[in-house]
Amino acid sequence: MVTIIGGGLAGCEAAWQVASRGVRVRLHEMRPVRPTLVHQGDRLAELVCSNSFRGDKLDNAVGVLKEEMRRLGSIIMRCAEATRVPAGAALAVDRGRFADAVTAAICAHPLIEVVREEITAIPAAGATGGPVIVATGPLTSDTLSQDIARFVGAEHLSFYDAISPIVLAESIDRSIVFRASRWGRSLRGDERRASSTPTRVGSESAHLEGTGVAELARQADSTAESGSLQAAGCSLPEAEPEAEGPACGVDDGEGDYLNCPMDEAEYRAFYDALVSAESATVHDFDSVQFFEGCLPIEVMAHRGRETLRFGPMKPVGLPDPRTGRIPFAVVQLRQDTLAGDHFSLVGFQTQLKWGDQARVLRMIPGLQDAEFVRFGMVHRNTYINGPMVLLPTWQTRAREDLFFAGQVSGVEGYVESAGSGLLAGINAAHQALALSPIEAPRETAIGALAYYVSHAEARHYQPTNITFGIMPPLELPAARRSRGEGGPRRKDQRKEALAQRALQALDNWMGQVAIGAPA
Ligand code: FAD
Repeated sequence: MVTIIGGGLAGCEAAWQVASRGVRVRLHEMRPVRPTLVHQGDRLAELVCSNSFRGDKLDNAVGVLKEEMRRLGSIIMRCAEATRVPAGAALAVDRGRFADAVTAAICAHPLIEVVREEITAIPAAGATGGPVIVATGPLTSDTLSQDIARFVGAEHLSFYDAISPIVLAESIDRSIVFRASRWGRSLRGDERRASSTPTRVGSESAHLEGTGVAELARQADSTAESGSLQAAGCSLPEAEPEAEGPACGVDDGEGDYLNCPMDEAEYRAFYDALVSAESATVHDFDSVQFFEGCLPIEVMAHRGRETLRFGPMKPVGLPDPRTGRIPFAVVQLRQDTLAGDHFSLVGFQTQLKWGDQARVLRMIPGLQDAEFVRFGMVHRNTYINGPMVLLPTWQTRAREDLFFAGQVSGVEGYVESAGSGLLAGINAAHQALALSPIEAPRETAIGALAYYVSHAEARHYQPTNITFGIMPPLELPAARRSRGEGGPRRKDQRKEALAQRALQALDNWMGQVAIGAPA
């Protein structure tokens, strides 16, 4: 038997996959016995916000993920199709009928038992007579959250998402930005990966004493200090080295960050736009006591005209190689190590409305034509640090009979949550049937997501939607490479090629998935 905790998108999909392989499931859902602050009723797979599953064409990655899930027999996709409402190129559903359809399918399955109760601790190994999948979502109940923190380590469980915006690399103006690390210092591989210690942003004062702005630096120190940053899922400004002075090793095109330099007039204009922009409505469930080191950029700006220059926009140690001078302010962009074509704005978590966010952030030199892969936001979100805890099979590294799936596992979005539940369900069934776990090919969307969650940079880990950027780049056949031919040049052609490659890889892999599944 497989035990599943949480009857949301991930838990229901996992239950369906397990039961479809002839294995019994006990699915624990705490509603209505214990409600969450967001769910409205007692049905399974309730959509907590938008009724959209996003794009449904193969020209975007979530469309590819959906197509893969259909081919893998997803119950979430089947119910979504059955309750579809007109929404152009997107797949949107009638949310009430959708939740009814999933609830009916799950409750009618002879191998699935739904138990309405809160689970307050991760069952001990062997206690339930089979594998356990934790799929309790972003609003995991407090008592279970505490036990998850105990299991994964408190520093590897986040309770809030303070997300910085992410832009597409090719939309950054490289004639304006320059590549450099502060003081010419590059992060080593082991620094990039797995750091279990929350980063602490060093005091500015030591570096600024000689510049005549030490007083401002002291004022700004409070914004640069970080408390339990890992717990807040923050994106931090690049840390200062402890003892080095401003020796300014010039980075001649080297370094881990892209830097957007601002002169004083640009900074003043940006500041004025930022403090007058409109913030998104803060819902009850979102009313967060912000961590000091994790303040939204606009909240920081309201503390004073210079605060940002001593927080995330500090220019010290970053001379512009074209002028040799330190800019008035700098916005740093950090490359996502796996999604090489995505850059996040370091320390720019924000609650600005998306329209205003785009308008204000495009005032940053180099980002005037920026395309946003994801906007910044701050909201309640319980999730583990996937790369520290999980394998690409969605099993935990520490206990092979324990799986995480859905938003709590470190993915973002309805479809991604269901997709992770699908693979976790297949592998839990495999384990119950004494079969080996399977990994989806990285070229598939579902495999790329599993790889990202288990291999992304742990130190700055943030949940992700599926994007083409986390799939491996296209490789040309050797014959074409030797003729000096390049890959598809146009973005739409590249996407089409990635989508076709994903579906081909999925079809080749389907034989393994069918193991254990009834004919
Ligand atoms: P859920 O669908 O939340 O399911 C988890 C289930 O576990 C719940 O039914 C819960 O009652 C139950 N549970 C929790 N603790 C326990 C326990 N201890 N014992 C038993 N049961 C328990 N994504 C989008 O794609 N589009 C959006 O518009 C969107 N809006 C969001 C809005 C908010 C406010 C939040 C928090 C998230 C949003 N997300 C959105 C992100 C995410 O995709 C959804 O939260 C999605 O529902 C996650 O699926 P899940 O199965 O992981 O979790």
